[in-house]
Amino acid sequence: MRIRLTQVTTGIICLLLMLPVNTGCRRTEQAGSKPPLVKTKSGIEMVAIPGGWFEMGSQKGGSDEMPVHKVWISPFLMDVYEVMQDQFRKYQLPDPSHFKNPEYPLEQINWTDATLYCNERSLAEGFEPCYDEETWDCNFAANGYRLPTEAEWEYACRAGTITEYSFGNNKAKLRTYGWYVDNSSGKTHPGGQKQPNPWGLYDMHGNVVEWCNDLYAGNYYSQSPEKNPRGPKEGKERVLRGGSWKSSAETCRSAYRSSDPSIDDTCLASDAIGFRCVRNAPDNVSSEPKMNSEKQTQNTAKTGLVYDDIYIEHKTTPGHPECPERLVRIIKQLKAGGLYSQLVELKPAPADRHWIETVHAPEYIDRARSSCENGAGYLDSGDVPISLKSYEAAVMAAGGVLTAIDAVMEQKVTNAFCAVRPPGHHSLENRAMGFCIFNNVAIGTRYIQEKHNLPKILIVDWDVHHGNGTQAAFYDDPNVLYFSVHQYPFYPGSGSDAEQGSGKGLQTNINVPLPAGSGDESYVKAFEDKLTPAASSFAPDFVLVSAGFDAHEGDLLGGMRVTEQGFAKLTQIAKSIAEKCCAGRLVSVLEGGYGLEGLAASVEAHIRVLMQ
Ligand SMILES: [Zn+2]
Repeated sequence: MRIRLTQVTTGIICLLLMLPVNTGCRRTEQAGSKPPLVKTKSGIEMVAIPGGWFEMGSQKGGSDEMPVHKVWISPFLMDVYEVMQDQFRKYQLPDPSHFKNPEYPLEQINWTDATLYCNERSLAEGFEPCYDEETWDCNFAANGYRLPTEAEWEYACRAGTITEYSFGNNKAKLRTYGWYVDNSSGKTHPGGQKQPNPWGLYDMHGNVVEWCNDLYAGNYYSQSPEKNPRGPKEGKERVLRGGSWKSSAETCRSAYRSSDPSIDDTCLASDAIGFRCVRNAPDNVSSEPKMNSEKQTQNTAKTGLVYDDIYIEHKTTPGHPECPERLVRIIKQLKAGGLYSQLVELKPAPADRHWIETVHAPEYIDRARSSCENGAGYLDSGDVPISLKSYEAAVMAAGGVLTAIDAVMEQKVTNAFCAVRPPGHHSLENRAMGFCIFNNVAIGTRYIQEKHNLPKILIVDWDVHHGNGTQAAFYDDPNVLYFSVHQYPFYPGSGSDAEQGSGKGLQTNINVPLPAGSGDESYVKAFEDKLTPAASSFAPDFVLVSAGFDAHEGDLLGGMRVTEQGFAKLTQIAKSIAEKCCAGRLVSVLEGGYGLEGLAASVEAHIRVLMQ
């Protein structure tokens, strides 16, 4: 059966009246912050979906959901609800639905009829139709309505989440978010009765399964392009997404793929098949991913703070610059500035030894423990003074980073700052160095990769010293981009721009050595000219910051002239990269910073930007 619609509204040219939409920002919105709504002249509400990167697929699903891969989606508008029967009837079209009710979603619709509706709606609102009604080819350059690509659909469904459903991993909660076999009473339901996803889209899980534009291929993910994939060129069936009133909870997952005719366990009878429309975002929005540091929309990010009193118990020698007072002053400043109460307190747990061993040799870990507990004055070298509780503090410092990473991954917070001691970026696999015992950021890197299955990590290190330990840990690893800007020549001696990585990791180690006396301008220039483009092509899954503040103009050890405003700007750039590439996932970890006043003020400026 095919419904011909073209004569109905041809010639009616209306301009679409749109509410002002801020689509100029290309950040990936966070779960919890809703993108703006747009209302078409015919009264249909659409969500202005921002462009961004996301991870498509699932490692827990069927083989056709793998590999999980990174995809860029350009901005687009998507219907808040499935196309409802009254919307369809506006064009005087025979309603094919089984469960007749103007407020119920349209169903029993085949793919070509869904595309014809898209064309009619485009004409009625003065847009260029996307579909050729002879070949059914889709003109993606047209400004009219079309079915979403499969990637657009999953991106919109996930809404910044990486869990199995847009509300998390708990299947039992599906009752709150969708109509499926366990709660539908064997029929469809009006839109808007269940909770929407974080971007304000309803019924992305259940009610009616939805047509996508793409042809279906089970192996498509292993060959699909990174930017705006549009499905394989050849295929017999079209993709259906989102599960229906007949589906099991499993088949309502964000990544679940099905096609028509379906013989799998989705039970996709035709009275479970509907659709919703999308159209490209207005022309003033770039369709290509760009990295920039433009001002972000004012979505308030939740920022976590890791701190524990054990960090104060790591005592160094009297007069040593890496002193407990550093953290005391930081916390005091955050309280005085009113920030402390706005941060999400993250209580750290000690790092499991397994995670420390991803970076450090077992015998070194044993030596660190016995040296501290036996009351040795220092570990390995005179510049790593230790005390009885130093081992416990070091394990908790690494653990604090892991706690922050978990909080970001669980979306308790968008990003986090770890006010930890001892610092980490000089420590090597089997040796303490430069006030550092365990390499907190390197351990965090391995943790994200192994525990959370996110392979590509960007480490931004703006401590005034070169992070030789971190560089060594990942020197031949193509999945870790280490970027360090530092005073040079200076302690520890490494960090020339000729050190670019080795083997498969060649080009994934970027050093920007700067002469003593460099200030905000040189640092920002290094970030804009070198970090931003490299990060853009690397496309990290997570950003870690080795945040040392010893490049501050008032520091006791460093010879640089960076100000609090400079650190704020560097933070903004790093945060912007995280927003563009990985839904804002960023954990910042204290390294150096020895002028107490400048340190505390810089940390405050840093956190203020993270919170924006
Ligand atoms: Zn330092």
